[in-house]
Amino acid sequence: QFKAIVIDRDEEKKQSVAVKTLNQSDLMDGDVTVQVAYSTVNYKDGLAITGKSPVVRRWPMIPGIDMAGTVLASDNSDFKPGQEVVLNGWGVGETHMGAYSQVARVKSDWLIHKPEGLSAKHCMGIGTAGYTSMLCVMALEKAGLTPDKGPILVTGAAGGVGSVAIAILSKLGYHVIASTGRSSEEAYLKSLGASELIDREELSGPARPLNKEKWAGAVDAVGSHTLANVLSMTQYGGAVAACGLAQGMDLPSSVAPFILRGVSLLGIDSVMAPKAKRIEAWSRLAQDLDLSKLESLTKTVPFDEAMQAAADIVDGKIRGRIIIDIADQ
Ligand code: NAP
Repeated sequence: QFKAIVIDRDEEKKQSVAVKTLNQSDLMDGDVTVQVAYSTVNYKDGLAITGKSPVVRRWPMIPGIDMAGTVLASDNSDFKPGQEVVLNGWGVGETHMGAYSQVARVKSDWLIHKPEGLSAKHCMGIGTAGYTSMLCVMALEKAGLTPDKGPILVTGAAGGVGSVAIAILSKLGYHVIASTGRSSEEAYLKSLGASELIDREELSGPARPLNKEKWAGAVDAVGSHTLANVLSMTQYGGAVAACGLAQGMDLPSSVAPFILRGVSLLGIDSVMAPKAKRIEAWSRLAQDLDLSKLESLTKTVPFDEAMQAAADIVDGKIRGRIIIDIADQ
C-alpha cells in the first residue's frame, strides 16, 4: 500500500481531490514500477488539481507530470531495479496515473536515466518547466541565435520556465531582458542573471504589426498579446521560441514580423518530444545550468502541501520552481 493524491469526479462531473491509500493494482499498465522520490508543481499540474482547464482526461487520476525516483521492478533490461530515473510528460498525470504518488507504474519508453551531475532533487527543481526552457534555448540556437546577435527577452520571468531560462541564458553569455509583472522580484531576477527588467504591462496590450526592434530573440511562456508584441519588437532575422499560454492561447498578431523582418516563430512542445531530444536537453541542463542558481530558484514542500502549491501556481503566487518531497509525509 502507498499514498497518492487522487483526482476524481462525480456523476455531475464535479471534481474532488484527496490523499488516498492505494494498492499497486490501482495503477495502470506499464513495464517499469518506480518508487517516486520527488515530483514538482508545474502550471499544468495546477490546472489539473484546480480543475481550471481540462488537463485530466481520465478519472480517477493521480496528477503530477514529472517524477524522479528509483526503479523498483522492471520488465525492460534498459532499466534495472535500483537505477535512478526521470520522467517528464508523455500524458502522465493527464491520461496515465501520475507522479503525486509514492509508487508509479509507467512505460519504459517514457523514462530516461537520471543525468550525470544532477541529483533526483535537482531534476525535479528543473522539471518540465526547466526542461522546456532548455528546449527553447536549443531551438533558438538552431535558428542561429548567439549572444553577439543582441539581447534576449524572457517573458513570465519569475515563473518556472522563465526563471530557469534566465539562469541558462545568462550562463551562456546572453544579455537577458526579463519581462515580469512582479517588480518586487527585481533582486531575484537579477540574481539569476537578468541584466534588465521590463514591466509585463508594456507587452500585454494589443500589438502593432511592427514596433521598434528591441531583442534578437525571446523565450515566451505567456502567449496572446504578449507574444504578438514580442514578435513585433524582434529584430531583423531574429527568432522567438513560444512554449506557453500564461496570458492566453490566442495569438493576435500579423504576418508583418515574418515577411518584413524574417523573424522565425519556433513552436516548443515538451510533452511528446522524442527521447533523443530529451536526453540532449537533460545533458545540456547538467552542463549549462548553474546549480547554485537552480537551488536559489527552488523551494521544497512536503507531500501534504502539493495541493496548496498547485492552487498557488494558478494564482500566479509561485516564484521559480516548487519541488514536492514525496517521502516527506
Ligand atoms: P508559472 O511558474 O506559473 O509561470 C508563468 C508566469 O507567467 C508567471 O509567473 C507570471 O510571471 C507570468 N504570467 C502569469 N499570468 C500572466 C498574464 N495574465 N499575463 C502575462 N504574464 C503572466 O508557470 P510555468 O510552469 O513556468 O509555465 C509557464 C507556461 O508555459 C504555462 O502556460 C505552461 O502551460 C507552459 N508550458 C508549456 C510547455 C510546453 O511543452 N510547451 C512546458 C512547460 C510549460 P511574472 O510574475 O514574472 O510576470
